[in-house]
Amino acid sequence: MPKRPRIAVVGSANVDLTTFTDRFPKPGETIFGQKFDLGFGGKGANQAVASKLCGAEVFMVARVGSDLFGPATIQNFKKLGIDATYVKQVEGVSSGVAPIFVESSGQNRIFVVKGANDELKPADVDAAAEMLQTVDCMDYFVPNESEAETITGMPVRNLDDAKKCAAKLLGDGIGRVIITLGANGSLLASRDGMEHLPAFTVKSLDSTGAGDAFIGSFAVFLGEGLSEREAVRRANLYAGLSTTGVGTQKSFYDRARFDTEWMARNPTT
Ligand code: ADP
Repeated sequence: MPKRPRIAVVGSANVDLTTFTDRFPKPGETIFGQKFDLGFGGKGANQAVASKLCGAEVFMVARVGSDLFGPATIQNFKKLGIDATYVKQVEGVSSGVAPIFVESSGQNRIFVVKGANDELKPADVDAAAEMLQTVDCMDYFVPNESEAETITGMPVRNLDDAKKCAAKLLGDGIGRVIITLGANGSLLASRDGMEHLPAFTVKSLDSTGAGDAFIGSFAVFLGEGLSEREAVRRANLYAGLSTTGVGTQKSFYDRARFDTEWMARNPTT
C-alpha cells in the first residue's frame, strides 16, 4: 500500500449552472432552454475532489457565500470526505457561480462571478497555518497552454513553443514546471532537463476540468512516493479519462476505476 498523502487546497469553489439551448436569446427576448445542469466546480474545489477520489486525505481552504449554494458546497465537500473546517460562509456576498450557456452547436458563453472567493484573504490562510504545516508539500507550477502564454507573454501553439516557454519560467526562478498540453499530454521541465509525456488515447467528450483533474491526481501520485515522471504519466491518464464524461467533478474517476484503466494500459507497472 502506498503512503496516504495529506493534501491541502487553497482556492476557489463555484457552482456551475449550465443551460443547454438551441440558440441564445436576442436582447429583450425570453426563450425556453432545453436542459439545465447544476454541478459543483471551481478550480480549487475540482482539484480537491480529484485528490480525494485518488485516495488522499484532503483539506480545503475556501470561502462560500450566504446563499443556497454556500451550505450545499460545504455539504458536498463533507459528503466526499474532504475536511471543510476551513471552508467558511461569508455574510452579504453570493457564492462563486458560473452561469454557462451552451448552444446546440457546442458553442458556449460563460460568466464567472467570483463572489465569496474574493473574500478569501491572506489572514484566512494564516488561520489555517497549523493544518497547512502538516501536509506533504511540493513546489510545482502547472499552467495549461493559455495560462503559460498569459504569464510569459510567449505564444504556446506547439511542443517547441512550450519548451521555450518552460525555459523562460525556469529562468525566472521557478524550480519545476509542468505545462499541460491538452490532447498532446504534458511537458515536464526542471533544471535537470525536459521531457514530453504524451497523452493517452481516450474517447474525449468534454475537456472542462481536465487541468484540475491533472493537478489533483498528480499531487496524490507524487505524495505516494512515485517519481515525478511516473506521477505525470498517471496524471495524464487520470485527466484524459476525465474528458470522457461531461462536466468537471462529475467526470472524475475514483481510485479503483482509475487503477483498473491504468493496469489495462500498463500491464507491467
Ligand atoms: P485545462 O483543462 O487546464 O485546459 P489541458 O487541456 O491541458 O488543461 O488538459 C490537462 C491534461 O488532460 C492534459 O495534460 C492531458 O493529460 C489530458 N487531456 C486533455 N485533453 C485530452 C484529450 N483530448 N485526450 C487525452 N488526454 C487529454
